[in-house]
Amino acid sequence: MFPISRFVSESAAADLLQQVRWRDGVECPRCRSDLTVRNGSYRVYQRYLCKNCGRTFNDKTDTIFAHSKLKLKEWYFTIYVFLRFNTSIRQIEAELDLSYRTVRRRVERFASALDAPSITLSGPVEIDEVYVSAGKKGRERDQESRSRGLSTRGRGSYEGDKPPVFTLVDRGSNDRYVVPAKSADESTIRLLLENHDQESLTVYTDGFRAYEPLEEDDAFTREYVVHGDGEYANGDIHVNTCESHASLTRRWLSPHRGVSKDKLTPYLRAFQLRCELYRKPGDEALKHALDAAL
Ligand SMILES: [Zn+2]
Repeated sequence: MFPISRFVSESAAADLLQQVRWRDGVECPRCRSDLTVRNGSYRVYQRYLCKNCGRTFNDKTDTIFAHSKLKLKEWYFTIYVFLRFNTSIRQIEAELDLSYRTVRRRVERFASALDAPSITLSGPVEIDEVYVSAGKKGRERDQESRSRGLSTRGRGSYEGDKPPVFTLVDRGSNDRYVVPAKSADESTIRLLLENHDQESLTVYTDGFRAYEPLEEDDAFTREYVVHGDGEYANGDIHVNTCESHASLTRRWLSPHRGVSKDKLTPYLRAFQLRCELYRKPGDEALKHALDAAL
């Protein structure tokens, strides 16, 4: 259910921020003390006084929402439709009657506040990489990605505006991760697969050479299919789940065709968040999104 009250009433929006931010009690943003008292209000936002250091602050202080021209309810609407409906910045701009620049900066400020996913793998794990066009502008980029899709193995590089993006599917936990990288090399792959419970993590890959060193390492059991030989699955050995998740990633990025490579990380973290809250009811989803950015 679309949490509409949070988008029309600024005080309902402020209530939600209070609930999420102070879930474990109010804490001074400067000295972390919990010796705080309510101290009037700043517009509709509750204000507090820290009895330890004397600072006053309100619900928005030191969050991405502080010092913003946008009202909280407009922020929420922006974040919600961006994550939930994969709405383009242009469309949000039209709905809210704000400038493109304002909406884009807010979306990016939100996305930049998101943490990297913490990856702990139970395995077996599928891993695969694709190269996304990021860095060129508008049409040129668009045509290229349409003819080749996301997958231009061996051609992409960060410098060449086609950074690699890894997809990991943990079949044990069913968690999925999408992580952009500077290069698709052994050290990046090791870093992604580093945290695992099993003594020897089973890893399914395709025939890409950068996965070969895993075979020499007792911490991994690598099994692979060679796509070039027309082999796409051998029983459990395949990366098909990665490929379908990568196509969702492509759909996520498609309305944001101006994403440059230095913004790719925040946009993909937002995609990660979108997947996490996908099946949650509206109000829960909005809370989850706020929590992720605080
Ligand atoms: Zn304090």
